[in-house]
Amino acid sequence: VTRRVVLIVAVALVAFTVGSAAPSGAGTVGGTTVSTSGPATTLTVHLDICCSSPAQHAEDVSLFNAYATQAANLWNQAFAKLLAQGCDLLHLSIDVHVLNTGDPWEPGFDQITSNFDKPGRDGIDEPVGSTLPATSDWTEPYTSTLMGHYFVPDLTARIFAHETGHLLGLGDDYTDQYLEGIGPTSVDLPGREGTLMDGGDTIDQNLVDRIAAQVEKAGDTLPTCQHWSGTIHTQYIAPDGCASTIDATLVLAVRQDGTVAGTYSGAETSPCPGSPGTFSIGRGVPITGSLTATSFVLTLVPSTPYTTRELPVSIPLVSRDLASAQLHGSGGGFSESDVIRLTCSDC
Ligand SMILES: [Zn+2]
Repeated sequence: VTRRVVLIVAVALVAFTVGSAAPSGAGTVGGTTVSTSGPATTLTVHLDICCSSPAQHAEDVSLFNAYATQAANLWNQAFAKLLAQGCDLLHLSIDVHVLNTGDPWEPGFDQITSNFDKPGRDGIDEPVGSTLPATSDWTEPYTSTLMGHYFVPDLTARIFAHETGHLLGLGDDYTDQYLEGIGPTSVDLPGREGTLMDGGDTIDQNLVDRIAAQVEKAGDTLPTCQHWSGTIHTQYIAPDGCASTIDATLVLAVRQDGTVAGTYSGAETSPCPGSPGTFSIGRGVPITGSLTATSFVLTLVPSTPYTTRELPVSIPLVSRDLASAQLHGSGGGFSESDVIRLTCSDC
């Protein structure tokens, strides 16, 4: 039996105001700047690389531009899939200037001293006097320009992307330790094995959320989402006359561009025979959708045993921060009624 379930919902959203899209900026100028345009917040890392010789300049420029492109691609592929704090679409831009010997550092640019010939350990320096452990996230990239050291023979695109992570506010996901019988070694933080801020190249939700947290802690304002939550109570009668109920919770974030991200978590009290059983679907099934001037349109991301045949559904608003509807539907021998009530906590 294919279950058609729930969310035959229809709501009317009235007078919805999208949050302000004001560019952020607390007045301080860091080597990493924050700007908002449309639905995305762009973090731009400004790097001065010093110093190239005139004879090598073109080659050095092309090398660092290649690293910057690869690092930005790695981060941006992750940002496209992982909204920061369930809301914000981030984008990374890396602005690299390779200086010639004798050129002055530029205001607003991090100062990276590069050794083009010798191997060594690449790194971004903490400000003088800082006592932060290297594993601590930090706001400094957004409030001041930083210094660092790159050793070109040991530099890779992964390392460049890792160091860029520091310039987005991230600490390391590993510690340097001296282990008896082994010597100096890197030890992963628990649960952080293989991340880009460890020794791997995985960018996960944790890293993306941590970046957004540092941006906000530095005083920059990220676009806000409106947060909606509520319940759906569903009663249905199966083709054989069996009746059951499903109670579910919806949690929704509405971004500035009107796109909706959220989850559906439900439980069925007494599943009818032939049903898929107590809703294994019930724990945090992703919801996507959109909010137009007049209505929510919601779709459950397809997930067995759910069918999304009835979806998307549209849902009207009864006031600025309340959406509710009572709906009836039938199909495939089922008849069903849904009572939905959603409220906004910050509209
Ligand atoms: Zn590091």
